[in-house]
Amino acid sequence: MTQFAEMSSPTPDIEALESQYQVLLDDLAGGAEQTSVVSRWDRLRKTFSTWGALTHVRYTLDTKNAENRAAKELLDELSPRVESLDSRVKATLLEADHKGSLSSDHGDHLAALWGADLASFDPVISDDLVTESKLRNRYVELLASAQLEFRGETHNLSTIPRYTLDPDRNIRREATAVQWAFFQENGDELDTIFDEMVKLRTSMARKLGYENFIELGYQRMQRVDYDRDDVRVFRDQVLNEVVPLVSRLRALQADRLEVGSLKAWDMATYSQEGNPRPIGDHDWMLERATEMFDEMGPRFSSFFRMMKDSGLLELESRDGKAGGGYCSYFFDYEVPFIFANFNGTQQDVRVFTHECGHAFQGWSSREAAISDYVWPTYESAEIHSMSLEFLCWPHMDKFFGEEGERFCWTHLAGALDFLPYGVAVDEFQHRIYEQPDAHPAERHAIWHDCERRYQPELDWDDLGYPAKGGRWQLQRHIYLNPFYYIDYTLAQTCALQFWLASRKDRDETLSRYHKLCSLGGTGAFQQLVSQAGLRSPFAEGCLSEVLEEAASVLFGS
Ligand SMILES: [Zn+2]
Repeated sequence: MTQFAEMSSPTPDIEALESQYQVLLDDLAGGAEQTSVVSRWDRLRKTFSTWGALTHVRYTLDTKNAENRAAKELLDELSPRVESLDSRVKATLLEADHKGSLSSDHGDHLAALWGADLASFDPVISDDLVTESKLRNRYVELLASAQLEFRGETHNLSTIPRYTLDPDRNIRREATAVQWAFFQENGDELDTIFDEMVKLRTSMARKLGYENFIELGYQRMQRVDYDRDDVRVFRDQVLNEVVPLVSRLRALQADRLEVGSLKAWDMATYSQEGNPRPIGDHDWMLERATEMFDEMGPRFSSFFRMMKDSGLLELESRDGKAGGGYCSYFFDYEVPFIFANFNGTQQDVRVFTHECGHAFQGWSSREAAISDYVWPTYESAEIHSMSLEFLCWPHMDKFFGEEGERFCWTHLAGALDFLPYGVAVDEFQHRIYEQPDAHPAERHAIWHDCERRYQPELDWDDLGYPAKGGRWQLQRHIYLNPFYYIDYTLAQTCALQFWLASRKDRDETLSRYHKLCSLGGTGAFQQLVSQAGLRSPFAEGCLSEVLEEAASVLFGS
């Protein structure tokens, strides 16, 4: 078993790679047996992807390290060139005379995925993609540079939530103010980066023949079986069914906190003693997690022990480390990698079980016949992660002691509360890319409007920056992966169905979950959802049953 620290992949030699691709194309043109050419090509893709993933992971682990930054820059420059090479192979394979054997080897979904890839790339935008990566890095580095002075300590954006979620309301208020002061101070730069991103993305879309970035954004996300009308219908369901339920939750919360009216810094705290916190540190949590996965069956157990023993978990927050949490995958080693920033709140357990869901799925489908099928598209991938958060519920006493049940309650409350916010982020992005020439102040006004619609109780009080609509700038996806957000709400709708099912028959639910993980990316979203025995979030009334059960857990009625 190779340790993460020892994992390496040769820096690609782009000229050599170009000639290897040319050989593949010549072989295809010369009538070589297609299956073997595809498997040679997939080998090349896996190796490049392994180098890219290792480079990205090491950069996010220490964004200040010069060597990591230089490697990341090279990755940003090479990626569009390799994408261009891949496009040529995909286009050649999709040509009519090759189609038959492709679908008999891999089904129809592969052609749909590649169709989306071809629709979202042309060498004419290669330089723009490099510029887009540079803008992303500027955002990541700006946020990673935050030094928040709070009560004699210096924090970053990953560790300050420990205090924005403190049981003491004054501490919550003060920490929230410190956090937004950073955004206020850097507001111009954040607006400039985003303005450049929106204009650049719009210009790429137009070069590819689209009216604006929305359609291109969907193609980049490889959304092959639903469109923006379906998404709008889903957002409306959230507005009509979830927003009223969250309003009920707010009333209960105000009551429990005895605050009269809730302020922004109260929204994620559900009782006066604060939310439960894990009762041990990082190493202790890993021990508890090992016990939990051992108890959840042999597949989870061997997966988690492998992750831990190979050093594939990087969970502690450090100076210079990028924010957020994610899961990556190293094809040449056939192992996933988990990145997080523990801060001592209950979020650690949520983020951890979430990323373990991604990693478990990638590991479950590591033997997929082609690399495109190891991971599904994002809205499907988030089902594995968000569902595992719920499927771990019976083990929460390990992390929270007697507070295990209270954690589950706040997790459920947070899961419902998240849906309106999630669709607000989605609606915001549609509106942003519909009017790419809007002024930064207009963009803030658009967010403000979305917030009012979906989170009517959110009151920023005297925090001027978010009160005027600056909250979206903390949402990394808006900068880094446009249109990657509705995915979480669609997946949450599916995860809540798994939650409901597991309350009735845990074993049957777990076996459906395993099945879904093993399917990897072999189908489109609604196909996978139906294979897992779940209802599509686009179906009318898909939320009703779960909301009924959730209300009974949250309100006892
Ligand atoms: Zn995720």
